[in-house]
Formats: sequence, structure tokens, C-alpha cells
Amino acid sequence: MSKNSAPNNNVFYRNQNWRYPKIVKAEGIYLFDDKGNRYIDGCSGSVVANIGHANKEVAAYTKELMERISFTHLSRWTVDEIEKTAKKIAEYAPGDLNHVYFLSGGSEATETAIKMARQYFVERDGVSSKWKIISKWNSYHGNTLGALSMTGLSSRRKIYDNYLINFPKIDQFYHYRNKWNLEDKVESSIKAAEELEQEIKRHGAENIAAFISEPVVGSAAPGVYPEKIYFDMVRDICNKYDILLIIDEVMSGFGRTGEIFAVNHYDLIPDILVAAKGMSAGYTPIGCTIANDEIFNTIMVNGSGHFIHGHTYAGNPLSCGIALKVMEITERENYVENAKKQGNYLMEKLQSLYKYECIGDIRGKGLMIGIEFVQNQKTKEPFSKEINFKTLLMEACFKEGLIVYPGGGSVDGNLGDHILLAPPLSVSKEEIDVIFEKLEIGIKSVNDKLFR
Ligand code: PLP
Repeated sequence: MSKNSAPNNNVFYRNQNWRYPKIVKAEGIYLFDDKGNRYIDGCSGSVVANIGHANKEVAAYTKELMERISFTHLSRWTVDEIEKTAKKIAEYAPGDLNHVYFLSGGSEATETAIKMARQYFVERDGVSSKWKIISKWNSYHGNTLGALSMTGLSSRRKIYDNYLINFPKIDQFYHYRNKWNLEDKVESSIKAAEELEQEIKRHGAENIAAFISEPVVGSAAPGVYPEKIYFDMVRDICNKYDILLIIDEVMSGFGRTGEIFAVNHYDLIPDILVAAKGMSAGYTPIGCTIANDEIFNTIMVNGSGHFIHGHTYAGNPLSCGIALKVMEITERENYVENAKKQGNYLMEKLQSLYKYECIGDIRGKGLMIGIEFVQNQKTKEPFSKEINFKTLLMEACFKEGLIVYPGGGSVDGNLGDHILLAPPLSVSKEEIDVIFEKLEIGIKSVNDKLFR
């Protein structure tokens, strides 16, 4: 007797016990399966489909581009589409983040940031002992081994621990569960930032190359963000100890939070900014690692002139062209502004959900909103693993035709249930109303089962 369902095709899926509906068509915020069911994509896949699904303009452009040119390798050739896309991204990025290194996704992009930081110090100083990257618990930076070494999610790391680089980790800015029991978010943000300086001192600044942080936390503790003071302090600490600041905008970048990049909420200029997902809104796999002038010039102009790195599909003209088209549409349709407007509207509506006992914390920026669920609102006690709240809720919403992004482990790496709400940035007010209605039905049904 096997433990899980028998395979019914040749795909090595992520979960053998999930019955995968077969999607045959998509449009805007909707997905349609082969049984005629319609689903609202309330999380844009995995916070990717920023301009909505099956955009005809992107499809027509892709056909035209593909008929003209499909692949060149960035070691030999350049193409207009590659240069124009880099220029556009450099215009969007703050400060002197002017140099765009293309990749095929988020994990590749965060791993690239590690190597970029390391090579910068070696080229600058000749020999350098700086190599460690400080990251955080309750963070996600990707699943490849370098990215996973920075990721602070025990459940994802556990069985691969032998392969991982032992990077230092500090606690996340996580006001709702701040260990100092501070009421004031400014104070908990200050305490969280102070931990960076303490960790640098513990390891010695001469051994630290960079600190990496998400500006608004994604899947690990969705929607969690600090007060501005946190990033003011972090920027100063990094400068003081000659440590690069890497900001991971793989999820938050390209408009998701109501700003083109979430660093704008804090007037923050990192040394390296990493993005992916919304960069092409899912129309092609692409990501990027953006370096500032200092890093680029040290390696490429005044140094060896070669970044010792590279991937076959990095900087292919097709993906670059499609990403540029997506940016053009995002700009023309004011989707970043819409993310702010609809995000505020949804956040306002969500406040009424606190009447359900299971609601712990609702937080986020723009259309990147997290809801954390608890057994007890007063004590913040999480649900036990056996209850599997996040799956119950995901299934209840699924029944209503709403897809939400479930996750867990934010309390101690194991316990804690949350969902991420992140519909396409093209979502309308009326569609937000429907999303809310379906979400409330899902939450109420699980809440009633557990508390009545
Ligand atoms: N960084 C962040 C903040 C992410 O949210 C993700 C993916 O969810 C990644 C990195 C990894 O990106 P990818 O799944 O494209 O490898």
C-alpha cells in the first residue's frame, strides 16, 4: 500500500497528494480549468502575474520578436532589446543602481548578488577576508544552495543542511511577534536594526561582505515590514562597517507594493538590488541583479573587467524584450498606482475580519498583503501542526474559486499559519470586492469549524 497517490502522468510535481486542476485558459485575474471551473488568481501564481494573464499585446509582441530573433548568448552579442531593458530598469532603480546583470529567476539573482559582493571586495582590496553574508530568520531568498544558505526558513533548510554555507542570521523585523514585547513599531524596528551591528561585531566586519534583506517580507512572513528608521539605521551600519547592502525585491519589485521598487517607501538606496517575478509578470523566466556604480566600476572598469559568473539564458533577447513590453504596459496602464489604490482599499476592507477569532495580524503594502492566523488573538498562540490551518483555509477558499498563497513556520520555523494575498496589479475595485467576499466565506467556514 503506497503512502501517497499514484502518479497519473510523467510530471514530477511538488506535492503528490494535491489533485492538480488542469488549466486550459486564462484571462486577466482568472484561470479556467478543463472542467469549466473559473478561479480568481488571488496571489498571481506566486506573486508573479502582475499585469494579469494572457495579455494579447504581450502575445503579439512575443510572436513578432521571436520571428525576428530568439536567442543570442551574452558572451558574444548584444541586441537592442537587451540594452533598452537594462536602460529602463536603471531608470526605475534609485540612486546609481545603473548596471543590470540579467538572470532567469529569483534564486539565480540572489546567488549572483553573493558572488558580486565577494568579487567586489577581492577586486578592490586584492586579498579580502570578506565573504560572509548576514541574512535573517523568517526570510526567503530562493531554493538553490547559495540562496538557501541565506534563506531563514528551517523547514526548507533542514535536510540540506550539510550542503549549506553557514551564513550568520539575525531576527527579522517582525513587529507582531517582536521578542522585546514592544508596543511601538518604531522601537521594535530600532531593536531589530541594532541586532545587525551586534552580529557584525560578533563575526568581525573584516569577514562580512554583505547584509541581505527583503524590504517587505514575502512568503516567510508575508507583508511584514519595518518602520523607515530600520532601513535608515541598516544603511548607516553597512556604511560604517564597509558592508554591502543587498535588497531582495524578487517579490516586491516592479510595482507590487505600490512603488516601482519597495525601497522607495524608505528612501533607501542599496548597493545591490535583486528582482525577478513581476519583472516579466510570468510571460517569460527572467530576473536581474542590479549593481551600483562603485561595484560595477571596481570589477568591470578598474578591475579585471570580467565578472566570474554566467548562465546560458542570462540576458537572452527574447526574455529581455518581453520584460520590457510588460514594463511598458505597466507604465501606460498605471498599474503601480493601481496597486497602491486597490491595496489600500483591500487593506481597509480586511480590517473587518478581526472579528473572527482566528485572525492574528493583517499587514502589508500595496497588493502584497499577509494575514497571520492564531489559535488565540490575545496570546497570539499559533494553531497546532495537526490542525494544519493554512491548508484548511486554502482549500476553503479554493472551493469558492479563490486562490490564495499559503505558508507557515513564521513563529518558530515550524508553527504559524499565514496566507499571502497578491492579485494582479491590474485588478479592479469590483474584483477586489469579489476577492474579499470569497475570502471572508473561506475564513468564516474554517473559523466556525474550529471555534464553534
Ligand atoms: N527572493 C524572494 C524574496 C522570493 O520571494 C523568491 C521566490 O519566491 C526568491 C528570492 C526566489 O525566486 P525564484 O523562485 O524565482 O528562484
